[in-house]
Amino acid sequence: MSTIVRFAPSPTGRIHIGNARTAILNWLFALKSGGQFILRYDDTDTARSTEDYARGIATDLAWLGINPARVEWQSRRFARYDAVADDLRARGFLYPCYETADELDRRRKRQQARGLPPVYDRAALKLTDDEKRAFEAQGRKPHWRFRLAQKQVEWTDLIRGPVHIDTANLSDPVLIREDGTYLYTLPSVIDDVDFGVTHVIRGEDHVVNTAVQIEITQALGGKVPSYAHHSLLTGADGKGLSKRLGSLSIGQMREDGFEAMAVVSHAALLGTSDNIHPCTDYAELVDGFDLHKLSRAPARFDETELKALNAKLLHMTGFDAVAARLPGKTEAFWLAVRGNIEKLADAEQWAAVIEGPVTPVVADEDRDFLAAARAALPAEPWDASTWKAWTEAVKTATGRKGKPLFMPLRLALTGLDHGPELAALLPLIGRNRVLDRLA
Ligand code: GLU
Repeated sequence: MSTIVRFAPSPTGRIHIGNARTAILNWLFALKSGGQFILRYDDTDTARSTEDYARGIATDLAWLGINPARVEWQSRRFARYDAVADDLRARGFLYPCYETADELDRRRKRQQARGLPPVYDRAALKLTDDEKRAFEAQGRKPHWRFRLAQKQVEWTDLIRGPVHIDTANLSDPVLIREDGTYLYTLPSVIDDVDFGVTHVIRGEDHVVNTAVQIEITQALGGKVPSYAHHSLLTGADGKGLSKRLGSLSIGQMREDGFEAMAVVSHAALLGTSDNIHPCTDYAELVDGFDLHKLSRAPARFDETELKALNAKLLHMTGFDAVAARLPGKTEAFWLAVRGNIEKLADAEQWAAVIEGPVTPVVADEDRDFLAAARAALPAEPWDASTWKAWTEAVKTATGRKGKPLFMPLRLALTGLDHGPELAALLPLIGRNRVLDRLA
């Protein structure tokens, strides 16, 4: 049986690193099992969902290298949901309730005052047809609750292991509001069944929903998928991510110049038993991917770790992978500078150092030394061995060695006391510019 997974964001905002992690885990699962990845927009909340956000999510996923095999919109499936809801009503699984939010609130407070769990008491199930008509005559519209079986629901979660939830401890969930709009729960189950979803991989904030959704799936006669609930990300401070969503959005990370595969590697390996290391493509991540490696403990996302990972990734990235984003640059340039950058855009700073103009930094006591070095400069063509040959000659001519030999040359040639290997930079700077900077 081939696997089908889905990533189901609500297009009411852009995705952040936490949502992206869910998408990436689903994508890795699909890749590893040769299955299908569905992108499903959970846009039943038509007031808050926008096509702009949906487009933004698609852009973010594409940037992360995720290519859904199929895209679905819940807002286009209301006729299907209506038909299923009618069927559930006819079979007594959905029942109408007329309580107002205030009434429910008062009832909950009374229960709590008596030390009882705030579970819906199913008063509406006892309403007679006359009582219902009386409510309707007052202009009240019903919301619809799903009648739970009040039983032990069990599943073996692919991350959490065996889970048991007694639905007798839960309120019958409202699936349809007074105005006829759907809450997330029912459409999600209908879609999972209709699209043949085999594995639901999502955040642990949905664990309790799962018990309800398993019961609904059974009521629909659908096949219950396997579930995997991963822990949620926290910030470096251990608190939930929601506070700083802006800076943690995938769009912002892209704008900030992070490499997609650094974000992917970080999100995929965070909270697993593997070390977080940079992977240049999904194939490498797929090799080691296993949902069992995910810890149940919350995983901490720390932007400084992402920065370090980004740098590490660039240090091992081949020219082919970045050439299109470095127009006019050569492989020699890339190999010279990649070890000295944190973001790809930093490469431009080194291009500026190579091409100049630079302001050579020259100490008075080094003037004669630099003049001697200038005189010893070999003729072109230059290659990676030129630096060594030149500095050997300068050493012989001046008697200097070590730092007093190399640092004045670096300061004069680049204007900086740090940077890429001069052996690699020298041929890129070229003889004319070197002559200028030493003069
Ligand atoms: N739209 C839901 C959410 O973002 C989807 C949850 C699910 O995967 O079922 O929380």
